[in-house]
Amino acid sequence: MSEFSGHFADGFRLLCPNCRNHPLFRTFFAMHPNCPGCGYVFEREAGYFIGAIYINMAITLPTLVGGYYLLDWYAGPALSTQFIIWGLFSVSFPVLFFRYSRGVWINLDYYFTHPKAPGKRSAGEKK
Ligand SMILES: [Zn+2]
Repeated sequence: MSEFSGHFADGFRLLCPNCRNHPLFRTFFAMHPNCPGCGYVFEREAGYFIGAIYINMAITLPTLVGGYYLLDWYAGPALSTQFIIWGLFSVSFPVLFFRYSRGVWINLDYYFTHPKAPGKRSAGEKK
């Protein structure tokens, strides 16, 4: 597994990007301010997790649109039924996926901003 895909997977496992061993969240919605194991600060600055919102939208919107057309093609429910299904989906999925979007965001940010990690090249370094 490459370093990039390892960090990507750690994002979905909700693990610290630095030690890759301790959890990001202490409850379903609340993150630890720092890693309980290595002390790595999770929220680097105000507005840091805006990128996680983009990740959440990038997953939610194509799923919603694709799901609408797939369900329409497969089962052909009434338009009002589609609105109810995808209205509920568009409210609930981003809430349930928010932890994973933050995990992926913080792990990918770490991957791209910490070029000295073992076995990894910096962004501008050639092979
Ligand atoms: Zn850690």
